[in-house]
Formats: sequence, structure tokens, C-alpha cells
Amino acid sequence: MGNFVALISCDIVEPMINSAMYIWLLLLMFGRQQPDPYRAAREEMVRSQIEYRGVDNPAVLSAMRKVPRHFLVPESQQAYAYGDYPMQIGHRQTISQPYIVGYMTAAIDPKPTHRVLEIGTGSGYQAAVLAEIVKQVYTIEIIPELGALAADRLRSLGYKNIEVRVSDGYHGWPEEAPFDAIVVTAAAPEVPAPLIEQLAEGGKMIIPVGPEFSVQNLVLVTRRKGRIEQRQLFSVRFVPFTRE
Ligand code: SAH
Repeated sequence: MGNFVALISCDIVEPMINSAMYIWLLLLMFGRQQPDPYRAAREEMVRSQIEYRGVDNPAVLSAMRKVPRHFLVPESQQAYAYGDYPMQIGHRQTISQPYIVGYMTAAIDPKPTHRVLEIGTGSGYQAAVLAEIVKQVYTIEIIPELGALAADRLRSLGYKNIEVRVSDGYHGWPEEAPFDAIVVTAAAPEVPAPLIEQLAEGGKMIIPVGPEFSVQNLVLVTRRKGRIEQRQLFSVRFVPFTRE
């Protein structure tokens, strides 16, 4: 009797174990379920740097919990990707500190229906965070190597709603205007007029304004009933907005 029971249970259990292992192997090989060594670091980054400092937009927090920031920085720097500081990404450019990305993204109040323009693709991180929340992201980078690398990495992460263009972002992206929101991640001496023109009614633009190597202010520009309002938020330090 004992043997009989053992035989039956083996017949049922073994195929179950085998198929579970098979599915697990398939996920491991082809799925996006591969163990992420930086998951805990990313969670901690969002909790202690972003949420703790008052960014409470759930869509922004969940996007930042998801985007693998380490994949968008130089390979040798991956271990530092979730630290509370900006980082060098080559060509004398930087990826912004995570808190600044969280703050700026929340400031434009992104919605799932939005089409957003970013100036200064850099690593592609800000674009990826936006792409998790909004319908379509257009991002412009002036340094061809950075634009190509970011486009490549964003593609391999599977983002289909980000278009990268290499050009001088001063002129915006007139063919796709108007935009529900614009995020500028390089400090300009003043808000570029073409970007104001490309902001949709009710739209918001966040941009650091000020001279190179000096105090710059994060400015929130809003178009309301056709009128342009500008509000200074706080001091920041960004790489300069360069011209072709
Ligand atoms: N958003 C980026 C931050 C990059 S730093 C990120 O998430 O990593 C700012 C970037 O703006 C740099 O890569 C710089 O080359 C780019 N930049 C500066 N002036 C520009 C311009 N006129 N048009 C487009 N990109 C510009």
C-alpha cells in the first residue's frame, strides 16, 4: 500500500516540478524577470532621497522604482548609480541627482495622455522616467555620441515611446509641437523663446535658468489662458545649455 501511494504521488508531482522548472528557466532566459542586483538600492533611493524629501506624486515614485538607473550610467560606475549625487556620464556631462529628477518630473504634473519634450537627453534616465508615466517622450541631445548611446540603451530597455534626436534643443521640436510639458536639463541664460512657443495651453515647462558656473534657478513656466507665468523654485547647479 505504501509503495502504491508513493508511485501515484511521484507520477503527479514529478511532471509538476518539471514543468515549473521549465517555465522558470524560460523566464530566466527570455523574460524580464532576471534577478536585479540593484533592486534594493533603487527602492532605498526612492524612499530615502525622493519620498523623504517630499516628492509624493505616486506615478513619479513608481516610475523611479522601475527604471534601472544603473543601466544608463557608464558600466564602470554602475555600483554608484543610486547614490545621492549627480554623476559623470562622459563628454563633461552629468546625469542629475535622483532627487532633482524626481522633483522636476513631479513639477510638470505628468499624465498618461501627455506628450512631453525633453532638452538634454544625456544618459537617457530622465527620458525613461517620463516614458514610464506619459504617452510619448521626445528628447533632444546636442552631443551626437551621447544621443546615440542613450537611444541604444533606451531601445534595449524596451522603451517604444521615446524618440531621440541629435540637434540643438534651443529650437525645440516644431514638427511635434505643442507639448503638454517640457523638461530642460541644462542651464540656459534665459528661457528659449521657441520652447515657450511650443508649450501647449495649460502646459508646464521646468528649466534651470542662470549663468554657467554660478547660481542658477529652477524656473517653472506655465501657459495659462494664453499668458506665460514664471515662478522661481530653488537654486540648482546644472551643466550649461550649449548652442550649435
Ligand atoms: N537629462 C539628462 C541630464 C543630462 S545633462 C539625464 O537624465 O541624464 C544635460 C545634457 O544636456 C547634456 O548631455 C548636454 O550635452 C545636453 N545639452 C546641452 N545643451 C543642449 C542643447 N542646446 N540641446 C540639446 N542638448 C543639450
